[in-house]
Amino acid sequence: MNTKAGYIGIVGKPNVGKSTLLNHILGEFVSIISPKPQTTRDKILGIYTKNNTQFIFLDSPGIHNSTKIINQYMISEAVSTILDSDIVLFLVEFKSDFSFDEMEIKIIKFLEKFNKNTILILNKVDLSNNIKVDYENIIKYLENFKIFKDVIPLSAKKGVDTNLFLKQIEKFIPNQQFFYPENYLTDRNDRFFVSEVIREKIFLLTYQEVPYDSSVIVEKYNESKGSIVIDASIIVAKESQKGVIIGKGGQNLQKIGMNARKDIEKHLNKKIILNLFVKVESNWNSNKDKLKQIGYEQKDINIEEFLK
Ligand code: GDP
Ligand code: MG
Repeated sequence: MNTKAGYIGIVGKPNVGKSTLLNHILGEFVSIISPKPQTTRDKILGIYTKNNTQFIFLDSPGIHNSTKIINQYMISEAVSTILDSDIVLFLVEFKSDFSFDEMEIKIIKFLEKFNKNTILILNKVDLSNNIKVDYENIIKYLENFKIFKDVIPLSAKKGVDTNLFLKQIEKFIPNQQFFYPENYLTDRNDRFFVSEVIREKIFLLTYQEVPYDSSVIVEKYNESKGSIVIDASIIVAKESQKGVIIGKGGQNLQKIGMNARKDIEKHLNKKIILNLFVKVESNWNSNKDKLKQIGYEQKDINIEEFLK
C-alpha cells in the first residue's frame, strides 16, 4: 500500500484556538483549552490515521514575547514545532478589518526562512457573523504573503468539516511509512493527560497569576480492574497562592478535583479516585533546574534569534 505520513504543526499567538482545532479534528479531547492565553505549555501530538494517510498534528504553546523562564520554555516548544513540521497551520483570529500584527509578521518571517509549506487558518469567523466584511480587500492584502499555499477560514469552536479540511492539507503530506500504529491518538500517556486536565481546571477556576504559577505532578497512579487511584500535587510558586487554590473551606480545591475527576472518568472510562495536594515550591517557574524537575526541559533552540 502506498502510504503518506506527515507532521502538521499548529502554531500561532496565544488564545487563537489552536488546541480547540486539534481536539475538533481528532473528535477527542487531547489538548486542554481555556479562555486565558498560554494554557498550553508543551508540544502535544494528536494522530489521525485515515485510509492510507497518517496526519500527525502538533499542538503548540502560543508564540509571544516574554523573558520569563517558563515562557521561554513554551516559546522554544512552539519554535521546535515549526522546525519539526512538514506543513504548518498558522492560526490567526479573523477580524473584519484583518491585518497581521508585529508578532504574526515575525512568525511569518520565520516560516519563510525555513520555507515551510504553510496554510493560513483564519479562525473564529463566527465572531464576525453579523459584521460586514470587505473580503476583496483582505484577499488583496493576503496576496502579499507568498508563503501561504492556501487560506482556510473556519470556526474551530462551531465546527469544522473535518473531511474537507483533511483533504485540503493531504496534498502536502509526503509519501512515506506511518510513524505510529493506526489506532494511536496521542504520544502522551494517561498520566500526562490527568495532569493536564487538572491544570485546565486550575485555569478555569483561578485568576490573575495563579494559573500561570501552577503546575501539576501526578505522584501516584494505581490502576486496578475497575478503578484508578490517583494522587496529584498542585505546585504553586508562593505561599499565598496555596490559599487561593484551596479556597474558603477548601471549596475551590474541591471544585477543581470534582471537575477534573468527571473529565478523566469520561475519557478513561473508569472510576477515578482523585486525591489532590497543594505544595509550595518557591519560584519554581523562574528557575531552569526546578522547571526541569517538573518536566519542562527546554530544548536547545536559540529563541532569541527568533524573537529579535
Ligand atoms: P490556543 O491558546 O490557541 O490553544 O486557544 P484555545 O484552543 O485554548 O482557545 C482559546 C479560547 O478561544 C477558548 O475560550 C476557546 O473556546 C475560544 N475559541 C476557539 N476557537 C474559537 C472559534 O472558532 N470561535 C470562538 N468564538 N471562540 C473560539
Ligand atoms: Mg492551546
